[in-house]
Amino acid sequence: MKKIKFLDLNKQYLSIKSEIDDKIGEVISKSAFIGGEFVENFEKEFASYLGVDFCVGLGNGTDALEILISAFDFPKGSEIILPVNTFSATAEAVVSNGLIPVFADCNDFFSIDLSSIKKVISKKTVAIIPVHLYGIPADMNEILNFAKENNLKVIEDSAQAHGATYFGKKTGTFGDASIFSFYPGKNLGAFGDGGAVVTNDKILAQKVRMIANHGRKEKYEHLFSGRNSRLDGLQAGILSVKLKYLDFWIKKRNLLSKKYEELFENSNVFFPKIPENRISARHLFVVSVEKRDELKKYLTQEGIQTGIHYPKILSKQQAFFNYKADFKNADNFSLKLLSLPMGDHLEIGDVEFVTEKVLNFF
Ligand SMILES: *Cc1c(COP(=O)(O)O)cnc(C)c1O
Repeated sequence: MKKIKFLDLNKQYLSIKSEIDDKIGEVISKSAFIGGEFVENFEKEFASYLGVDFCVGLGNGTDALEILISAFDFPKGSEIILPVNTFSATAEAVVSNGLIPVFADCNDFFSIDLSSIKKVISKKTVAIIPVHLYGIPADMNEILNFAKENNLKVIEDSAQAHGATYFGKKTGTFGDASIFSFYPGKNLGAFGDGGAVVTNDKILAQKVRMIANHGRKEKYEHLFSGRNSRLDGLQAGILSVKLKYLDFWIKKRNLLSKKYEELFENSNVFFPKIPENRISARHLFVVSVEKRDELKKYLTQEGIQTGIHYPKILSKQQAFFNYKADFKNADNFSLKLLSLPMGDHLEIGDVEFVTEKVLNFF
């Protein structure tokens, strides 16, 4: 029976195996495990790819957000607005800094909704974290304008959006700073954990780097009590190799997505029509359907792996019960969303196969 995988990291590895293996060998032979040339090179390459001045490699995307928020030194009890429909890490990083997450609803592009932000903002609000969920750029112009009017920082969560663009500019370059995750399943994934903060603010970048490196300036000069969270040499080397292919992979994801959209046109499968001025990184291809759970079961029986991102909005997770939230649209979506197979491991024929089965079900 034909099987369609949701994700196939091994297939991607095999397509660039010799380059990856050579790079791993090089890192090992130079023992450049922590810091060193491979990390420095990747940081420069990724910053230049995005069009931003500074990139600081870190242990993972969650650490990146936690450290970045900590670098802003917001007053105790400050509130940070973020979308209610995101991965838990976005909220965790706020809570772990002793700050208060406030959840805003999403629009039909699955991005944080400005009218909802206006409902939940308070005197204690210090920042907004737009998440470019599934790789779809949030509407940065309206968020940046609103943030400016209200003197708020903008921290982009670009963990799912490497290579996405908004009016031709890469996501992750709009706010005061942005975080990325290099978790293996992300569009640019390492062979383990990895993350980064990117920004044009030199002082902020230095502060992030110091927090992540025991608060130190020089080897045994600790200016404050920090922590340890670093991108390691092996991951950086692997990411440098993969970065060269990222645009190619994103193009392929967009081709596959276009096919899905073409075949689902005028069906009972809803997907947001992304405006011309934005290019999604297509991390996930998420549709909204009735009878979602039955459809998922049916597709599994037909050999098609799917996912749900995310089955519960954050305000309905026990971890975040206590915080203020506006969530009607996001809550509705959470019952209907289904992530169909998406990635550079797929071919147009696979998309045709999946689409046929979905339409068959209805
Ligand atoms: C993956 C992800 C993170 C966290 O990244 P890790 O590297 O897994 O810690 C944060 N925010 C979003 C939206 C993510 O998808």
